[in-house]
Amino acid sequence: MPTSGSEGAGSSGRPMLRVSDLRARYGRIEVLHGVALEVHAGEIVALLGANGAGKTTLLRALVGEAETRGEIEFEGASICGLPAWERIRRGLGVVPEGRQVWPELSVLDNLRLGSYMLRGGAGEDELERILRRFPVLREKARQPAGMLSGGQQQMLAIGRALAGRPRLLLLDEPSMGLAPLLVSEIIEVVRQLRDEGVTSILVEQNAVSALRICDRAYVLETGRIAFEGSGPDLLADPRVQASYLGI
Ligand code: ATP
Repeated sequence: MPTSGSEGAGSSGRPMLRVSDLRARYGRIEVLHGVALEVHAGEIVALLGANGAGKTTLLRALVGEAETRGEIEFEGASICGLPAWERIRRGLGVVPEGRQVWPELSVLDNLRLGSYMLRGGAGEDELERILRRFPVLREKARQPAGMLSGGQQQMLAIGRALAGRPRLLLLDEPSMGLAPLLVSEIIEVVRQLRDEGVTSILVEQNAVSALRICDRAYVLETGRIAFEGSGPDLLADPRVQASYLGI
């Protein structure tokens, strides 16, 4: 099971992730303009904002898939300039937007590939833990991933990331396109993972659901952090209510 490090939940002590003055660009267009944020071990940190605000780009920047300037420190060491595979080896796990499972490979092979950075791959124990968490994946273990429903593919995408035993999970809109019942199920999985010590950054369009389960949240507006605070504080903030919660 992934572990959260030794600092425990809460925002005291040294952060697991510290981002400062982060800028990201596509070609000549800068889309993140000096973002700063912190994530502490054991937290769920929600990242909210309108379409195009820069949420996906921020996750891509963290994992080394965007052209960036600024500082990203993970577990006390700068990871700027490291290739994506090295950041993943150091403990980042990605659940990408739109799941991006390998449709022709079996569910089991998708999970196995999720762990290929680990020496020797995920042990059978690790796979067993993931299949216990998502029983539907056990039922479909030998089926091509492309045959799964959207919700099942999302569980597979989360399971595949967990197979790499990440210490910080980056989830990009895991509930996108799912029916309301499945949205609650996926959000509940993220909450359970936190209770087991997995730290997460959760990008979510379902802002109310995300604010209800997160420890803290940041709201991005056109590439800048516009608001930050605890879930309850942001839920109660009239500016956030008006702009992002439809209240
Ligand atoms: P969404 O909720 O729609 O996924 P987002 O908050 O994740 O939006 P990003 O996808 O990070 O936002 O996009 C931030 C900005 O960067 C937008 O203006 C978008 O048009 C632009 N952008 C994103 N990807 C690229 C790309 N590959 N090339 C050029 N511009 C891009």
